[in-house]
Amino acid sequence: MWKAGGGIEMLPSEDTVDLAKRHLVQPWPTAGEIGAETRSLIGSGDGIYITDGDGKRLIDGPAGMWCVNVGHRREELARVMYDQAMQLSYNTPWYTMNEPSAVLAERIAGHAPGDLSHVFFTTGGSSAVESALRFMQFYNNVRGRTEKKLILSRGGAYHGSTYLSASLNGRPRDRDWMDGADELIVKLSSPDPFRRLAGMSVAAFCDRLVAEFAETVKRIGADRIGAFVGEPVQASGGVIVPPEGYLRRIRKICRDNDILFIADEVVTAFGRLGHVFASGDVFGIDPDIITFAKGVTSGYFPLGGMIVSERLLEDLRRSNHPTAMYAHGLTYTSHPVGCAVALANLDLLENGVLAHAREVTPYFQAQLKTLEELPLVGEVRGVGLMACVECVADRDSKDPLELDRNVGQRIDAHCHDLGLLVRPLINMCVMSPPLTITREQIDDMVGILREGISRTMDDLRKEGVW
Ligand code: PMP
Repeated sequence: MWKAGGGIEMLPSEDTVDLAKRHLVQPWPTAGEIGAETRSLIGSGDGIYITDGDGKRLIDGPAGMWCVNVGHRREELARVMYDQAMQLSYNTPWYTMNEPSAVLAERIAGHAPGDLSHVFFTTGGSSAVESALRFMQFYNNVRGRTEKKLILSRGGAYHGSTYLSASLNGRPRDRDWMDGADELIVKLSSPDPFRRLAGMSVAAFCDRLVAEFAETVKRIGADRIGAFVGEPVQASGGVIVPPEGYLRRIRKICRDNDILFIADEVVTAFGRLGHVFASGDVFGIDPDIITFAKGVTSGYFPLGGMIVSERLLEDLRRSNHPTAMYAHGLTYTSHPVGCAVALANLDLLENGVLAHAREVTPYFQAQLKTLEELPLVGEVRGVGLMACVECVADRDSKDPLELDRNVGQRIDAHCHDLGLLVRPLINMCVMSPPLTITREQIDDMVGILREGISRTMDDLRKEGVW
C-alpha cells in the first residue's frame, strides 16, 4: 500500500485477503459468498508477468481483463499520469475542457474507419455502450422517429454491467438472476461456427445468420429498430470469430434499414487484433459508432469512449433543434489524466507494439492450436492475440462438459501452480496476453497450458466422470 513519504509497503497477504473477506464486495459474486469471498491476491506486475500474494510469478494470460496491452510496469505511462496530475488533475467537463482529451480525440479519429470523427469519453466499457445506446435514442427522438428504439443483440454477447448495456448480454448466467430492459431488446443467434448444425458448411451457417437478421428486421419492422450492437469478435462469450463476410452483410442490412451499427470494440480495439480498430482494418466494415475502453489506456486508468460518425452529428446539427439536448455526461468525461496516459499508450502502440502483435500472432495461434491434440479439447480458435480453448466431453458430438465440472477453473488451478494465470469460462479457457509477449514466452504459456489440461484430464479420469 502507498505509504506517507513515498514508496509502497505491502501488508502480509493473509491480512489483505482477510480485510477483503470482511469488507470488500468483489465483482460477480454468488449470493452464498457475497462480501465474504477469497480470491487470489495479486501483488505486483512487470511486463507480461504478475506476482501473486505468495510471491509466485505468473504469466498474465488474460492481460488483466483483456486490457494490459502494452504490459505491466511501464514507467513512461506511470510518469505521464504523475506529470498530468501535477499539471491539471481534473476539470469540469460541463463547461470547460482540457488539452489531452482534444488531442487524443483527434489521434483516435485518425485511426477510425469511415467517417467516424468525434469521440465522447467515458469511464469504461459499460458506460461507453450505455452512451452509444442513449445517443441512438436521442438521435431518433430528434429526427421524430420516436418508435425506432429496439436494439438487436446476440446470444453469447457481453456488453457491460450498467442496466441497459447489461440487458444486451447474451450469456445465460449473466441474465438468469438479474433484471433487464427486456422490452427494448431483441436477441439473435451467436455467430459461433463451432456450434453450427452437424453437416452444415460454415458458408451455409453464415447465410442462415444473415437470413435470421433480415427476417427479424422484416418481422419487427425497421421503423421500430434503432440499433444493432455487436462485438466484432465475441470475447467473453468464448472468442467467437464470426464467419467470413458475416459482419459486412449485417452492416449492409443495417445501412439499408437506417439501423445504427454499433461495433463494441471494448476488447478488440487498441491492438488486440494488431490494429487500433478491428472494424475497418480486420473486418472491412465502417460502423456508425464504435465503443472502446480497456486497451485505450492498457488498463493504467479507467477510460473508455465512443467514436461517432460525422453523418449522424450532421443530421443532428441540421435539425437545428433549439432545445433538444443529449442530456448525457459523466463527472469524469474527458478526464485529463486518463486521456494523457491514453496518448502515451497510443505512442507505444504505434511505435512498435502493434507491429509486434501482428508479427507474433501467427505463432501464437499456431502454438495454441497444437492443444487440439489433447482429447479433452474440442476446439482452439482465435484471431489476433486472443484465443479460446473449448473443452468438450465428446469431440464428435461436441457435447459440452456439464457445467458443474468447472473444467476451466480446474485447468486454471493447475496452471496457477505451474506459473500461468488463465481466464476460466465454465468449460473454456481464454488467453489474451499482453501484446508484447515474445515467442519464447508463448512457448512457456502453451507448455503450461498443455500440462494444466493434461493434469485436469487425469483428475477427471480418476473421478470417473470423463
Ligand atoms: N463490452 C465488451 C465487449 C466487454 O468485453 C466489456 C468488459 N469485459 C464491456 C463492454 C464492459 O466494459 P467495462 O467492464 O469496462 O465496463
